[in-house]
Amino acid sequence: MQTIPSQGEYPDFPGKAENVCWDTEGNGFQRLWLTLMENAAKRNVRIQYEMRATELVRDFKTGEVRGVVAENKGKKVYVKAKKAVALCTGGFENNQEMIRDYLGMPCGYPKGSPYNTGDGIKMAMAIGADLWHMDNQAGPDFNFRIPGKDWAFGYAFSPPGNGWIWIAKDATRFTNETYFTKHGKIPFHGVYIHVPTPLPVHCVFDETMRKSGPLYPPNYFFCWWAMIEKYEWSADNSAEIEKGWIVKADTLKELAGKIGKDPATLEKTVRTWNRSCAAGKDSEFGRTSVKMTPIQKPPFYAAEFVPAFTNTQGGPRRNAKAQVLDTNRKPIPRLYSAGEMGALYSWHYQGGGNILECIVFGRIAGENVVTEKAWA
Ligand SMILES: Cc1cc2nc3c(=O)[nH]c(=O)nc-3n(C[C@H](O)[C@H](O)[C@H](O)COP(=O)(O)OP(=O)(O)OC[C@H]3O[C@@H](n4cnc5c(N)ncnc54)[C@H](O)[C@@H]3O)c2cc1C
Repeated sequence: MQTIPSQGEYPDFPGKAENVCWDTEGNGFQRLWLTLMENAAKRNVRIQYEMRATELVRDFKTGEVRGVVAENKGKKVYVKAKKAVALCTGGFENNQEMIRDYLGMPCGYPKGSPYNTGDGIKMAMAIGADLWHMDNQAGPDFNFRIPGKDWAFGYAFSPPGNGWIWIAKDATRFTNETYFTKHGKIPFHGVYIHVPTPLPVHCVFDETMRKSGPLYPPNYFFCWWAMIEKYEWSADNSAEIEKGWIVKADTLKELAGKIGKDPATLEKTVRTWNRSCAAGKDSEFGRTSVKMTPIQKPPFYAAEFVPAFTNTQGGPRRNAKAQVLDTNRKPIPRLYSAGEMGALYSWHYQGGGNILECIVFGRIAGENVVTEKAWA
């Protein structure tokens, strides 16, 4: 195993010297997954797929959690816990109502599993759990979404060409488009905030950029679109233009009309961008000069991009024993949690921390659950 010193996600914070990453042979996520699967098999852990938990069952006298109600192929199933219930149903990456309520964005789409719809969070809320970190997320950054799909492309948008910008509803740029090393957070007057989402956002580019390669690379090794959907973006983006996902126009004015933006503003935005490229300095948002190429060769193109994220962080508040707490900060008897459903990151999420928390709190929850007295 190799140790590689890294900058850390927030190099301006104390502790950066300790921030290192461990590089293993092969993809880390694959190795972790295989280890977990092997261990589950060794211990005869029964994994019930297509069994959606919907409700926690609680003893009214003692307040103890006794099990869950679930749905399997339209049938209601009651599952009695031997000792306790540990919730680990992930975040609310694909629950548009919760995204609007808690993340302050009009919408958002997962780059990972669309099956995380905040169920565990709502089940815990229903029996009085306190919530924390609901406004925190690992994102957003802007990516393409196939119309009608409930997941987005990703990871960070980094096509081979550099002649592209994002424009907001008012047809102006609103951020350094390539500054996404902090899981969607950008520096703002001495603090970090989530990048704003002035929707609809469009990615605008020209013919040179179109020909430079696919917006999303082939043989990509992670994210839902690549691993599960196995979508292959065409090498010259022509298939996506054909499908109408990318809008094409001979002039910027015509393009603006097609995507519902003000033509004069779009022309001005692109003029300013091209001037910055010529000067080798993005005076508006500080995009690095190596990632700047003018947008000048017709035809011009635009694709609508949505806020996409890897995951949400909020959920039921938990203590150091992985017990879920109620609004009086008292543990709800026999209810535990682990993973990103109620992660401990209140704001400055450090890359790598979510999986770490799954492992650490999964173990703590497991160790404490087994010490509970079994019911007769
Ligand atoms: C593209 C991508 C890259 C990432 N990279 C990193 C990284 O480099 N490092 C890092 O630390 N983190 C990373 N993350 C985040 C990390 O992967 C997640 O935070 C972590 O996997 C969450 O694990 P979890 O077990 O809490 O939830 P999940 O792995 O999301 O599992 C939750 C499970 O619960 C199931 N479920 C949901 N509702 C119900 C229900 N009602 N009943 C039964 N089951 C239900 C879901 O189907 C899902 O299988 C990344 C995420 C993505 C998407």
